[in-house]
Amino acid sequence: MKKAISFYPGPSRVDHRIPMYVRDAYDNGILSINHRSETFVKMYSQTVDLLKEKLDIPEEYSVFFTSSATECWEIISQSLIHTNSYHFYNGAFGKKWFEYTKKLKPYAIGYEFDLEQELKTGELDLSSEEGVICITQNETSNGTHVDNGRIGKLRKKYPKHLIAVDATSSMAGIHLDFSQADVWYASVQKCFGLPAGLGVLICSPTAIDTAKKLNENKHYNSLSFMIDMEAVRQTTYTPNVLGIYLLMRVLKRRKHIEKVEKKLHKRLKMYEEIFSEDERFSFLVKNKKVRSETVVVVKGSKEDIISVKEKASEAGLILGNGYGPYKETTFRIANFPALEKQEVKKLLKFFKKYFQPEKQE
Ligand SMILES: *Cc1c(COP(=O)(O)O)cnc(C)c1O
Repeated sequence: MKKAISFYPGPSRVDHRIPMYVRDAYDNGILSINHRSETFVKMYSQTVDLLKEKLDIPEEYSVFFTSSATECWEIISQSLIHTNSYHFYNGAFGKKWFEYTKKLKPYAIGYEFDLEQELKTGELDLSSEEGVICITQNETSNGTHVDNGRIGKLRKKYPKHLIAVDATSSMAGIHLDFSQADVWYASVQKCFGLPAGLGVLICSPTAIDTAKKLNENKHYNSLSFMIDMEAVRQTTYTPNVLGIYLLMRVLKRRKHIEKVEKKLHKRLKMYEEIFSEDERFSFLVKNKKVRSETVVVVKGSKEDIISVKEKASEAGLILGNGYGPYKETTFRIANFPALEKQEVKKLLKFFKKYFQPEKQE
């Protein structure tokens, strides 16, 4: 049986060359290399160079490998937040980040905002001149995002604070202005199109200075240790070497992020056309300014959602379930780069037929 095409927004459709790359890794002995070896050091450097080139990351930023985005929540809490942190969120992932932080740093403050609203940049209770502002650039649970312009405004308004950004489901899919924030992170099982088990953490020179000043050193993944190891292009523990290798191979073939973004824009438009016409289904988020470009969230009645997912599955297409409070009243579509043109076409065709059966012969 042919395997179904997954439109799940993470773990998601992997790059179709992964099997070949895994074979190459095995044949070239990559799977058993020592993580202190010259081969590893070279691979680390090359992967970082590729990330910077393809994603437009400033040269002076540092790149670290972690196990996941969740680990990055912890690293930021323990190693970059001294006392204060300010969390803006409107969905499940941003909220989780806030809640985990609060357990480690009790002065964390959460600001929940409405789904349809742009992130407000003027409402921090500035009891302190320092601290970390935490935002979720792309909220995978409800399909909202904070655009580069907004992050830039935040940067201007709070020049002395560190800004940390969860870009887990958008990094490598859309163009991010890395210069406007200090900490960015993502897991590779979303827009990078890789199997899960690797995270990428990107830090500005200011973030590195802050970590060095705080010098928190109680954990295997204390950022101060990670910085020491990164200086020699190594990691604090035996990392996911295969994951890093696959990331390097996938990036080598990836077009520059501006081209990738264009491709995803075009696809998003096609989804918008379909869902703006239907009576049963519509976008969960009405305000286009805050709508995610990589995670499409469509709402409908419980019955319609069950039915469309079933019909899609029969056609060999897996739609993502809704998340958290939207579990039963939405489905999600990953608008990720690893999905092939033919696969997106197939999904669009399915929707057209499903929504307007009378228009097909
Ligand atoms: C998927 C996701 C995470 C968690 O990623 P893990 O790899 O499971 O740690 C965190 N934040 C956002 C926005 C996500 O989409």
